[in-house]
Amino acid sequence: MRRIERLAGFTATPGKGSTRTTYTPEFRQALDFLSRECRALGLDPVVDGIGNLRCRLPGRDNAAPGVMTGSHIDTVIHGGDYDGVVGSVAALEVLAVLQENRFVPAVPVEIVIFAEEEGVTFDLSLAGSKALVGRMTLADMKVRTSNTDGRSLYQTARDFGLDPDGLPQSVLRPAEVSAMIELHIEQSIALEHDLLQIGVIEKIAGSFNYVVEVFGTANHAGATPMRLRRDALVGAALMIQEIEALARAEGRDEAVATVGRLAVAPNAANVIPNHVSFTFDLRDTDPDRMAERLAETLAALDRIAQVRRLDVTARRTGTNAPIALSGILADLVEDCAKARGYSYKRMHSGALHDTAVLAELAPSCMIFVPSRDGRSHAPEEFTDPEEIRRGVQLVVDTIVKLTG
Ligand SMILES: [Zn+2]
Repeated sequence: MRRIERLAGFTATPGKGSTRTTYTPEFRQALDFLSRECRALGLDPVVDGIGNLRCRLPGRDNAAPGVMTGSHIDTVIHGGDYDGVVGSVAALEVLAVLQENRFVPAVPVEIVIFAEEEGVTFDLSLAGSKALVGRMTLADMKVRTSNTDGRSLYQTARDFGLDPDGLPQSVLRPAEVSAMIELHIEQSIALEHDLLQIGVIEKIAGSFNYVVEVFGTANHAGATPMRLRRDALVGAALMIQEIEALARAEGRDEAVATVGRLAVAPNAANVIPNHVSFTFDLRDTDPDRMAERLAETLAALDRIAQVRRLDVTARRTGTNAPIALSGILADLVEDCAKARGYSYKRMHSGALHDTAVLAELAPSCMIFVPSRDGRSHAPEEFTDPEEIRRGVQLVVDTIVKLTG
């Protein structure tokens, strides 16, 4: 809790939540603080070329693939004090607990704290973990530019004092890691609602992102009879209802759809709208159902446009495949939760996390602890210290089982 409080102090918006985007002075303070905490444990932290902090507790066989645990310390603007931070300080705490108990793991246990998870500055989430596994190359870093000052990610990292040219040497190889465990706040209300202490994550949802444009005819609001209108906004409203209805009809918590942005033109009180653009974000953990529902959604948009005599286009702006985490690790975490008497359920994550990227390389799992009122990415974000303690305990127990 002391470490969580210290990190919360490194914010660009004191009193208005945690604002600690990558490569800012606050991010530097957080990195330096965590590095000092590692050295206080007698360990040697290393910050790689994109800003990921790594720190190894040696084991009996240091050539064997290690176990990694950690999360991220960058935040959104006016974010909370717990998102990413809980899993990051948990990693430090786990190493401290192992040391205090003179536990020498069979293989190295490594802290990994990721940079640029939220994607606030470079419009690319999970940049740090992608760089760690080699999915984000130096060339990618040179073309990806900051939305605040236009500098490239490569240049910004250099100006921050990092050595991005050294990044290729630190790319994690599959032979170096045998498991990744990330503790994270749930950022939703399911655990609190179900009065459960722990979520054992089996899957991370994939997503399709689209921009839809609906075209009608702008006309006088008084002079145009209802039967002769081509109202783009009414068409869009029907489409949005259908997008929601198709997600609801799945009847599973993992299947969701959201229309979060809408623009109406000419957006005048006495003119029939002739142009509406809106986004939709469709997510699921089942890749087949996700693709089928996308096809159903696009067909519904066409059908509604036809009935209402409108034109419609839908353009894909992003896609992420659903990710299955390790069932074996989830079983292990579940066993540990049972042994401690913690209430838990197996569930999915609707949000993406760095562990989704690591899962391409090694068996991976996530442990969720409840978020009060489900609030996250907001100053109100809160998780009770006792809930955090249970989560950290499960990371310790799981790592001891894996490395004992
Ligand atoms: Zn996070």
